[in-house]
Amino acid sequence: MSDMAKHLCVTDDCKKPSTLQCPVCLKMGIQGSYFCSQDCFKGSWKEHKVIHLLAKGKETNAYNPWPYYTFTGKLRPFEQTPRRPVPPHIPRPDYADHKEGRSKSEEALRGNNTIKVLDDEEIEGMRVACRLGREVLDEAARVCDVGVTTDEIDRAVHEACIERECYPSPMNYYNFPKSCCTSVNEVICHGIPDLRPLEDGDLCNVDVTVYHRGFHGDLNETFFVGNVKEQHKKLVQVTYEALMKAIAIVKPGERYREIGNVIQKHVHAHGFSVVKSYCGHGIHRLFHTAPNVPHYAKNSAVGVMKPGHCFTIEPMISEGTWRDVSWPDDWTAVTADGLFSAQFEQTLLVTESGCDILTKRRNENGTPHFMDHM
Ligand SMILES: [Zn+2]
Ligand SMILES: [Zn+2]
Repeated sequence: MSDMAKHLCVTDDCKKPSTLQCPVCLKMGIQGSYFCSQDCFKGSWKEHKVIHLLAKGKETNAYNPWPYYTFTGKLRPFEQTPRRPVPPHIPRPDYADHKEGRSKSEEALRGNNTIKVLDDEEIEGMRVACRLGREVLDEAARVCDVGVTTDEIDRAVHEACIERECYPSPMNYYNFPKSCCTSVNEVICHGIPDLRPLEDGDLCNVDVTVYHRGFHGDLNETFFVGNVKEQHKKLVQVTYEALMKAIAIVKPGERYREIGNVIQKHVHAHGFSVVKSYCGHGIHRLFHTAPNVPHYAKNSAVGVMKPGHCFTIEPMISEGTWRDVSWPDDWTAVTADGLFSAQFEQTLLVTESGCDILTKRRNENGTPHFMDHM
Protein backbone atom coordinates (compact mmCIF):
# COMPACT_ATOMS: atom_id res chain seq x y z
CA MET A 1 0.00 0.00 0.00
CA SER A 2 1.46 3.29 -1.08
CA ASP A 3 1.61 6.46 0.96
CA MET A 4 -0.61 8.17 -1.61
CA ALA A 5 -3.57 5.97 -0.70
CA LYS A 6 -3.40 6.61 3.06
CA HIS A 7 -5.79 9.57 2.98
CA LEU A 8 -8.95 10.19 1.01
CA CYS A 9 -10.38 13.55 -0.08
CA VAL A 10 -12.89 14.75 2.54
CA THR A 11 -15.08 16.40 -0.11
CA ASP A 12 -18.52 14.73 -0.25
CA ASP A 13 -18.74 12.11 -3.03
CA CYS A 14 -15.04 12.49 -3.99
CA LYS A 15 -12.97 10.20 -1.75
CA LYS A 16 -9.96 10.18 -4.11
CA PRO A 17 -6.53 9.50 -2.59
CA SER A 18 -5.16 12.83 -1.29
CA THR A 19 -1.95 14.35 0.03
CA LEU A 20 -2.95 18.05 0.29
CA GLN A 21 -4.03 19.27 3.71
CA CYS A 22 -5.99 22.42 4.53
CA PRO A 23 -3.35 24.99 5.64
CA VAL A 24 -5.68 26.62 8.19
CA CYS A 25 -6.36 23.24 9.80
CA LEU A 26 -2.64 22.45 9.92
CA LYS A 27 -1.95 25.77 11.62
CA MET A 28 -4.70 25.08 14.18
CA GLY A 29 -3.51 21.51 14.77
CA ILE A 30 -6.60 19.90 13.21
CA GLN A 31 -5.68 16.52 11.72
CA GLY A 32 -7.24 14.77 8.72
CA SER A 33 -8.46 17.62 6.48
CA TYR A 34 -7.21 16.12 3.16
CA PHE A 35 -8.21 17.32 -0.29
CA CYS A 36 -7.33 15.65 -3.62
CA SER A 37 -6.99 18.96 -5.50
CA GLN A 38 -7.26 22.74 -5.28
CA ASP A 39 -10.64 22.43 -7.05
CA CYS A 40 -12.07 20.14 -4.35
CA PHE A 41 -10.59 22.37 -1.63
CA LYS A 42 -12.11 25.55 -3.10
CA GLY A 43 -15.42 23.82 -3.81
CA SER A 44 -15.69 22.60 -0.21
CA TRP A 45 -14.47 25.80 1.45
CA LYS A 46 -17.89 27.09 2.50
CA GLU A 47 -18.75 23.90 4.42
CA HIS A 48 -15.19 23.15 5.49
CA LYS A 49 -14.39 26.47 7.18
CA VAL A 50 -17.07 25.75 9.83
CA ILE A 51 -14.55 23.31 11.32
CA HIS A 52 -12.16 26.22 11.97
CA LEU A 53 -14.86 28.18 13.81
CA LEU A 54 -15.83 25.14 15.88
CA ALA A 55 -12.22 24.46 16.82
CA LYS A 56 -11.70 28.11 17.70
CA GLY A 57 -14.81 28.00 19.86
CA LYS A 58 -13.41 25.02 21.71
CA GLU A 59 -10.15 26.85 22.31
CA THR A 60 -11.92 29.87 23.84
CA ASN A 61 -15.44 29.19 25.09
CA ALA A 62 -18.07 27.31 23.13
CA TYR A 63 -20.16 27.05 26.31
CA ASN A 64 -23.36 29.08 26.08
CA PRO A 65 -25.98 28.07 28.63
CA TRP A 66 -28.41 30.84 27.60
CA PRO A 67 -28.59 31.04 23.78
CA TYR A 68 -31.49 33.53 23.83
CA TYR A 69 -30.01 35.94 26.38
CA THR A 70 -28.58 39.24 25.19
CA PHE A 71 -25.46 40.13 27.18
CA THR A 72 -24.88 43.79 28.09
CA GLY A 73 -21.08 43.60 27.70
CA LYS A 74 -18.27 41.37 26.47
CA LEU A 75 -17.99 38.97 29.40
CA ARG A 76 -19.46 35.48 29.02
CA PRO A 77 -20.05 32.66 31.50
CA PHE A 78 -17.73 29.63 31.34
CA GLU A 79 -18.32 26.16 32.72
CA GLN A 80 -18.19 25.68 36.48
CA THR A 81 -16.40 22.95 38.39
CA PRO A 82 -18.29 20.73 40.88
CA ARG A 83 -18.90 22.07 44.37
CA ARG A 84 -16.00 21.78 46.78
CA PRO A 85 -16.89 20.02 50.02
CA VAL A 86 -16.22 21.56 53.42
CA PRO A 87 -14.92 18.99 55.94
CA PRO A 88 -17.58 18.11 58.53
CA HIS A 89 -15.40 19.09 61.54
CA ILE A 90 -15.70 22.79 60.57
CA PRO A 91 -18.76 24.42 62.22
CA ARG A 92 -21.36 25.49 59.63
CA PRO A 93 -24.02 28.22 59.49
CA ASP A 94 -27.68 27.13 59.42
CA TYR A 95 -28.10 27.53 55.62
CA ALA A 96 -25.15 25.24 54.81
CA ASP A 97 -27.29 22.09 54.86
CA HIS A 98 -30.67 23.58 53.90
CA LYS A 99 -31.99 22.32 50.54
CA GLU A 100 -32.64 25.85 49.21
CA GLY A 101 -29.80 27.32 51.23
CA ARG A 102 -32.23 29.38 53.31
CA SER A 103 -31.05 30.90 56.57
CA LYS A 104 -33.91 30.48 59.03
CA SER A 105 -32.10 32.60 61.62
CA GLU A 106 -31.86 35.52 59.15
CA GLU A 107 -35.38 35.09 57.84
CA ALA A 108 -36.79 35.20 61.40
CA LEU A 109 -35.52 38.81 61.64
CA ARG A 110 -36.50 40.04 58.13
CA GLY A 111 -38.24 43.41 58.35
CA ASN A 112 -36.92 44.00 61.86
CA ASN A 113 -34.76 47.15 61.93
CA THR A 114 -33.33 46.56 65.41
CA ILE A 115 -29.53 46.64 65.31
CA LYS A 116 -27.77 44.21 67.63
CA VAL A 117 -25.27 45.69 70.10
CA LEU A 118 -22.47 43.15 70.48
CA ASP A 119 -21.07 42.29 73.92
CA ASP A 120 -17.30 41.95 74.57
CA GLU A 121 -17.25 38.24 73.80
CA GLU A 122 -19.11 38.76 70.52
CA ILE A 123 -16.80 41.63 69.57
CA GLU A 124 -13.80 39.36 70.12
CA GLY A 125 -15.50 36.69 67.96
CA MET A 126 -15.93 39.29 65.18
CA ARG A 127 -12.31 40.46 65.46
CA VAL A 128 -11.05 36.91 64.95
CA ALA A 129 -13.41 36.07 62.05
CA CYS A 130 -12.57 39.35 60.28
CA ARG A 131 -8.81 38.87 60.71
CA LEU A 132 -9.08 35.38 59.21
CA GLY A 133 -11.26 36.72 56.37
CA ARG A 134 -8.53 39.24 55.59
CA GLU A 135 -5.90 36.50 55.46
CA VAL A 136 -8.08 34.56 53.03
CA LEU A 137 -8.57 37.59 50.74
CA ASP A 138 -4.80 38.17 50.75
CA GLU A 139 -4.37 34.59 49.50
CA ALA A 140 -6.81 35.36 46.65
CA ALA A 141 -4.75 38.47 45.79
CA ARG A 142 -1.60 36.31 45.51
CA VAL A 143 -3.08 34.02 42.84
CA CYS A 144 -5.12 36.59 40.86
CA ASP A 145 -3.24 37.11 37.54
CA VAL A 146 -3.43 36.92 33.74
CA GLY A 147 -4.35 33.37 32.61
CA VAL A 148 -5.62 32.26 36.03
CA THR A 149 -9.27 31.18 36.10
CA THR A 150 -11.69 32.58 38.67
CA ASP A 151 -12.28 28.93 39.63
CA GLU A 152 -8.61 28.73 40.58
CA ILE A 153 -9.09 31.81 42.81
CA ASP A 154 -12.12 30.09 44.36
CA ARG A 155 -9.99 27.01 45.07
CA ALA A 156 -7.35 29.15 46.80
CA VAL A 157 -10.08 30.84 48.88
CA HIS A 158 -11.73 27.51 49.74
CA GLU A 159 -8.46 25.93 50.85
CA ALA A 160 -7.38 29.03 52.81
CA CYS A 161 -10.72 28.92 54.66
CA ILE A 162 -10.37 25.26 55.60
CA GLU A 163 -6.76 25.74 56.78
CA ARG A 164 -8.11 28.38 59.18
CA GLU A 165 -11.08 26.32 60.42
CA CYS A 166 -13.47 28.62 58.59
CA TYR A 167 -16.60 27.76 56.61
CA PRO A 168 -16.67 29.85 53.39
CA SER A 169 -19.91 31.76 54.04
CA PRO A 170 -21.09 32.11 50.40
CA MET A 171 -21.13 28.30 49.94
CA ASN A 172 -24.81 27.25 49.62
CA TYR A 173 -26.10 30.63 50.85
CA TYR A 174 -29.43 30.57 48.98
CA ASN A 175 -27.73 27.85 46.91
CA PHE A 176 -24.76 29.96 45.79
CA PRO A 177 -22.43 27.21 44.46
CA LYS A 178 -18.94 28.52 45.31
CA SER A 179 -16.78 29.71 48.22
CA CYS A 180 -16.39 33.35 47.13
CA CYS A 181 -17.75 35.79 44.57
CA THR A 182 -15.51 36.80 41.66
CA SER A 183 -16.85 39.82 39.79
CA VAL A 184 -14.96 40.65 36.59
CA ASN A 185 -15.24 43.85 34.49
CA GLU A 186 -18.95 44.69 33.99
CA VAL A 187 -19.98 42.33 36.80
CA ILE A 188 -21.08 44.50 39.72
CA CYS A 189 -21.21 41.74 42.33
CA HIS A 190 -22.09 38.07 43.00
CA GLY A 191 -20.14 36.71 40.02
CA ILE A 192 -19.77 32.91 40.21
CA PRO A 193 -16.20 31.57 39.85
CA ASP A 194 -15.84 29.59 36.60
CA LEU A 195 -13.25 28.36 34.09
CA ARG A 196 -12.72 31.72 32.33
CA PRO A 197 -9.02 32.61 32.41
CA LEU A 198 -8.45 36.23 33.49
CA GLU A 199 -7.25 38.46 30.63
CA ASP A 200 -4.76 41.31 30.53
CA GLY A 201 -6.65 44.52 31.43
CA ASP A 202 -9.43 42.85 33.44
CA LEU A 203 -10.66 44.14 36.77
CA CYS A 204 -11.38 41.27 39.17
CA ASN A 205 -13.18 41.79 42.47
CA VAL A 206 -12.94 38.96 44.99
CA ASP A 207 -15.50 39.02 47.81
CA VAL A 208 -14.64 36.78 50.74
CA THR A 209 -16.76 36.00 53.79
CA VAL A 210 -15.69 33.45 56.37
CA TYR A 211 -17.71 31.91 59.20
CA HIS A 212 -15.55 31.10 62.21
CA ARG A 213 -16.79 29.96 65.64
CA GLY A 214 -20.23 31.48 65.03
CA PHE A 215 -19.27 34.81 63.44
CA HIS A 216 -19.02 36.07 59.85
CA GLY A 217 -16.25 38.42 58.58
CA ASP A 218 -16.86 40.00 55.16
CA LEU A 219 -14.58 42.01 52.86
CA ASN A 220 -13.74 42.50 49.22
CA GLU A 221 -11.20 44.23 46.99
CA THR A 222 -10.91 44.88 43.27
CA PHE A 223 -7.61 43.70 41.77
CA PHE A 224 -5.86 44.78 38.57
CA VAL A 225 -5.15 41.94 36.11
CA GLY A 226 -2.02 42.78 34.09
CA ASN A 227 -2.04 46.20 32.39
CA VAL A 228 -5.28 48.04 33.15
CA LYS A 229 -6.55 51.09 31.20
CA GLU A 230 -6.12 54.47 32.94
CA GLN A 231 -9.92 55.01 33.02
CA HIS A 232 -10.37 51.71 34.86
CA LYS A 233 -7.53 52.45 37.29
CA LYS A 234 -9.29 55.73 38.08
CA LEU A 235 -12.59 53.88 38.62
CA VAL A 236 -10.92 51.55 41.14
CA GLN A 237 -9.11 54.43 42.90
CA VAL A 238 -12.29 56.53 43.21
CA THR A 239 -14.26 53.51 44.51
CA TYR A 240 -11.64 52.89 47.19
CA GLU A 241 -11.59 56.59 48.15
CA ALA A 242 -15.40 56.60 48.40
CA LEU A 243 -15.29 53.68 50.86
CA MET A 244 -12.60 55.38 52.98
CA LYS A 245 -14.51 58.70 53.05
CA ALA A 246 -17.61 56.84 54.23
CA ILE A 247 -15.66 54.98 56.93
CA ALA A 248 -14.32 58.34 58.15
CA ILE A 249 -17.80 59.48 59.29
CA VAL A 250 -18.60 56.27 61.21
CA LYS A 251 -18.98 57.12 64.92
CA PRO A 252 -21.69 56.89 67.62
CA GLY A 253 -24.65 59.17 66.85
CA GLU A 254 -24.15 59.24 63.07
CA ARG A 255 -27.12 58.20 60.92
CA TYR A 256 -26.70 55.18 58.64
CA ARG A 257 -28.37 57.16 55.84
CA GLU A 258 -25.46 59.67 55.77
CA ILE A 259 -23.05 57.09 54.35
CA GLY A 260 -24.70 57.23 50.92
CA ASN A 261 -24.47 61.03 50.78
CA VAL A 262 -20.68 60.92 51.34
CA ILE A 263 -20.10 58.17 48.78
CA GLN A 264 -22.25 59.66 46.01
CA LYS A 265 -20.73 63.14 46.39
CA HIS A 266 -17.22 61.80 45.79
CA VAL A 267 -18.24 59.41 43.00
CA HIS A 268 -20.26 61.99 41.03
CA ALA A 269 -17.41 64.51 41.29
CA HIS A 270 -15.36 62.04 39.22
CA GLY A 271 -18.12 61.30 36.70
CA PHE A 272 -18.96 57.77 37.91
CA SER A 273 -22.25 56.37 39.27
CA VAL A 274 -23.42 54.53 42.40
CA VAL A 275 -25.20 51.15 42.10
CA LYS A 276 -28.49 51.19 44.04
CA SER A 277 -29.68 47.57 44.08
CA TYR A 278 -27.04 46.22 46.49
CA CYS A 279 -26.27 47.60 49.95
CA GLY A 280 -23.98 47.19 52.94
CA HIS A 281 -25.42 45.19 55.82
CA GLY A 282 -25.25 44.35 59.48
CA ILE A 283 -23.09 41.29 60.13
CA HIS A 284 -22.18 39.19 63.17
CA ARG A 285 -23.76 35.81 63.96
CA LEU A 286 -25.86 36.44 60.82
CA PHE A 287 -24.34 36.98 57.34
CA HIS A 288 -26.82 39.70 56.31
CA THR A 289 -29.03 41.54 58.81
CA ALA A 290 -29.99 45.06 60.05
CA PRO A 291 -28.91 47.75 59.38
CA ASN A 292 -29.37 48.09 55.62
CA VAL A 293 -26.66 50.47 54.37
CA PRO A 294 -27.36 52.06 50.93
CA HIS A 295 -24.44 53.69 49.13
CA TYR A 296 -26.48 56.31 47.19
CA ALA A 297 -27.51 59.80 48.34
CA LYS A 298 -30.87 60.79 49.84
CA ASN A 299 -31.68 57.23 50.90
CA SER A 300 -34.06 56.42 53.74
CA ALA A 301 -31.92 53.96 55.71
CA VAL A 302 -33.11 53.45 59.29
CA GLY A 303 -30.88 53.68 62.34
CA VAL A 304 -28.24 55.58 64.26
CA MET A 305 -24.77 54.17 64.96
CA LYS A 306 -23.98 52.95 68.49
CA PRO A 307 -20.86 51.40 70.01
CA GLY A 308 -21.00 47.63 69.47
CA HIS A 309 -22.70 47.77 66.05
CA CYS A 310 -21.03 45.72 63.29
CA PHE A 311 -21.79 46.35 59.64
CA THR A 312 -20.24 46.52 56.19
CA ILE A 313 -19.81 49.40 53.75
CA GLU A 314 -19.27 48.06 50.21
CA PRO A 315 -19.88 50.65 47.47
CA MET A 316 -20.29 49.33 43.91
CA ILE A 317 -19.30 52.12 41.51
CA SER A 318 -19.86 52.05 37.76
CA GLU A 319 -18.20 53.82 34.84
CA GLY A 320 -21.51 54.49 33.07
CA THR A 321 -25.05 53.80 34.21
CA TRP A 322 -25.88 52.92 37.83
CA ARG A 323 -28.53 50.48 36.56
CA ASP A 324 -27.92 46.78 36.94
CA VAL A 325 -29.39 43.66 35.36
CA SER A 326 -28.95 40.01 36.33
CA TRP A 327 -27.71 37.09 34.23
CA PRO A 328 -30.12 34.14 33.97
CA ASP A 329 -28.14 32.39 36.73
CA ASP A 330 -29.99 34.84 39.06
CA TRP A 331 -26.72 35.71 40.82
CA THR A 332 -24.40 37.61 38.46
CA ALA A 333 -25.29 41.33 38.57
CA VAL A 334 -23.89 43.29 35.61
CA THR A 335 -24.06 46.90 34.49
CA ALA A 336 -26.97 47.58 32.13
CA ASP A 337 -24.60 49.25 29.62
CA GLY A 338 -21.76 46.69 29.84
CA LEU A 339 -19.26 49.27 31.15
CA PHE A 340 -16.99 48.33 34.05
CA SER A 341 -17.83 48.42 37.77
CA ALA A 342 -15.59 48.28 40.86
CA GLN A 343 -16.13 47.59 44.56
CA PHE A 344 -14.39 47.59 47.94
CA GLU A 345 -15.79 46.31 51.24
CA GLN A 346 -14.78 46.33 54.88
CA THR A 347 -16.48 45.06 58.02
CA LEU A 348 -16.58 47.79 60.70
CA LEU A 349 -17.12 47.89 64.46
CA VAL A 350 -18.51 51.13 65.92
CA THR A 351 -16.37 52.12 68.94
CA GLU A 352 -16.80 54.89 71.58
CA SER A 353 -14.79 57.34 69.47
CA GLY A 354 -15.27 56.19 65.85
CA CYS A 355 -14.80 52.76 64.36
CA ASP A 356 -12.38 49.88 63.92
CA ILE A 357 -11.90 48.43 60.43
CA LEU A 358 -11.99 44.78 61.49
CA THR A 359 -11.02 43.49 58.01
CA LYS A 360 -8.24 46.01 57.34
CA ARG A 361 -5.09 44.88 55.55
CA ARG A 362 -2.29 44.37 58.01
CA ASN A 363 0.46 46.05 55.99
CA GLU A 364 2.10 49.42 56.87
CA ASN A 365 -0.82 51.69 55.92
CA GLY A 366 -3.63 49.20 55.43
CA THR A 367 -3.58 50.03 51.71
CA PRO A 368 -5.45 47.72 49.29
CA HIS A 369 -3.66 45.35 46.90
CA PHE A 370 -4.23 47.39 43.72
CA MET A 371 -2.03 50.14 45.18
CA ASP A 372 0.90 47.69 45.15
CA HIS A 373 0.64 47.88 41.33
CA MET A 374 0.13 51.62 40.76
ZN1 LIG B 1 -18.68 40.74 50.86
ZN1 LIG C 1 -21.10 42.18 52.38
